[in-house]
Amino acid sequence: MKAQEKHCKNCNKPLTGRWKNYCSRRCGSLYYIKNNHKETDIEKKLREWLVSQGIQFKIQESISNITVPDFLIDKIAVFADGDYWHDKPRRKYLDQRINTRLEKLGYKVLRYKGSDILKNFETVTIDLTNNLCQAKVNPNNIYSEWLERTKKEK
Ligand SMILES: [Zn+2]
Repeated sequence: MKAQEKHCKNCNKPLTGRWKNYCSRRCGSLYYIKNNHKETDIEKKLREWLVSQGIQFKIQESISNITVPDFLIDKIAVFADGDYWHDKPRRKYLDQRINTRLEKLGYKVLRYKGSDILKNFETVTIDLTNNLCQAKVNPNNIYSEWLERTKKEK
């Protein structure tokens, strides 16, 4: 009798043996992020702002098994990066690699530092609005307001 084939819990590829539940270390950590993620204060603040603006987004959406952005708004991947972890050199290097891979797939990557989300939130939301509007992601009130504002600035 053939043993039942096992599949990766994250990407569903048949397992070749090395690990019990995942095909790779990356799939293991992506699965963990998707299933054990607790929203942080900075993510909550950004999420509430997005909702208040009527902006549609996805959370815990894995992009080609590269990473799971905190918010995915069309082809814009938004990260709320806690200062402590993301200032570590190793983490900075990994973040940069993730950015490059996402950009190659046509994603725009926006990373906001936790300290800015907490203390300079207006700057963060202006930057985010500019990027959303440039990408014409959100053709509602914020887009028309933005058009008016940029016309005046020119
Ligand atoms: Zn996998």
